[in-house]
Amino acid sequence: MKDVIIIGSGPGGMTAALYASRSDLSVLVIERGAPGGQLMNTADVENYPGVGLVTGPDLAMSMYENSSNFGAEHAYGNVISIEDHGAVKKVICDDATYEAKAVIIASGSDHRKIGIPGEEEYSGRGVSYCAVCDGAFFKDRHLVVIGGGDSAVEEGLYLTQFASRVTIVHRRDELRAQKILQERAFKNEKIDFQWNKVPVAIEGDDVKVQSVQLKDTQTGEVENFLADGVFIYIGLDPLTEFAKDLSITNEEGWIQTNNHMETRLPGIYAIGDVRDTVLRQIATAVGDGSIAGQEVYKYITSLED
Ligand code: NAP
Repeated sequence: MKDVIIIGSGPGGMTAALYASRSDLSVLVIERGAPGGQLMNTADVENYPGVGLVTGPDLAMSMYENSSNFGAEHAYGNVISIEDHGAVKKVICDDATYEAKAVIIASGSDHRKIGIPGEEEYSGRGVSYCAVCDGAFFKDRHLVVIGGGDSAVEEGLYLTQFASRVTIVHRRDELRAQKILQERAFKNEKIDFQWNKVPVAIEGDDVKVQSVQLKDTQTGEVENFLADGVFIYIGLDPLTEFAKDLSITNEEGWIQTNNHMETRLPGIYAIGDVRDTVLRQIATAVGDGSIAGQEVYKYITSLED
């Protein structure tokens, strides 16, 4: 049995692993993909203090190396559920069950799907949620980016290094993204905008995307907008399916904690993007992870008293 199991190895999970293992707790980090979480889908990071401009995957790799320095172990696994037996928590994966005195949930979030015809059918064939992974396939092509938040604008800017043109489609006439990103997008000659438009279907030739049907939110008019690829950034959904029986989420599925990162269940913590919080950043996830790593040490010491 471990002292702590951490579910997820994004910036939050890796920081919690560093703090908890440095306090001499035995730590197992369970992850179903490559370490890094959303960092692996992020082109450039420029607002994480101390490292200047860095790519998401590079920052993920150095966080991963750091997180293992004090003995934290990593295992591959897809978590299906957590059972809370008081002093013992069981973390049940597809192919194994692990036990620990405490659990830190750092499972993060996934890109929200729009749910329109063609989205699933053309996923991986022109529809993408990851500019870092798929952008290079679209050299000199015309791309559409859906959304008006930080991700849509930041990744739209990143895509201009490959694409001949990037059209950002937003459902309002004002972006939600940070002003600095907006200014860069407005200045970029390769970027244009379709305001007050929502996609209602993605169409192609059965092999690849050829166009997006865009509906004007004011007139209701639908136009066939030609595009070689569609990158979707309309927000995030929490990855908390495995925690649904614990009654620790709000109605949208985000996990509720106090300032100590404690859920309502003693010994179960949540950190980073998966938390019901006001800001989802690398820096906030790292802050959450350090608090949880420290709090879990206090919790486990109290069990031994
Ligand atoms: P977000 O901030 O929730 O923005 C989602 C965007 O998609 C909004 O503009 C929203 O429109 C639009 N949208 C939502 N549902 C839609 C639908 N069904 N159809 C069409 N458009 C829809 O999500 P995000 O950009 O992925 O960012 C997630 C979090 O990560 C945020 O907290 C963000 O600040 C953070 N982030 C930060 C950075 C950075 O600091 N550099 C980079 C990336 C992400 P409305 O504006 O009308 O609601």
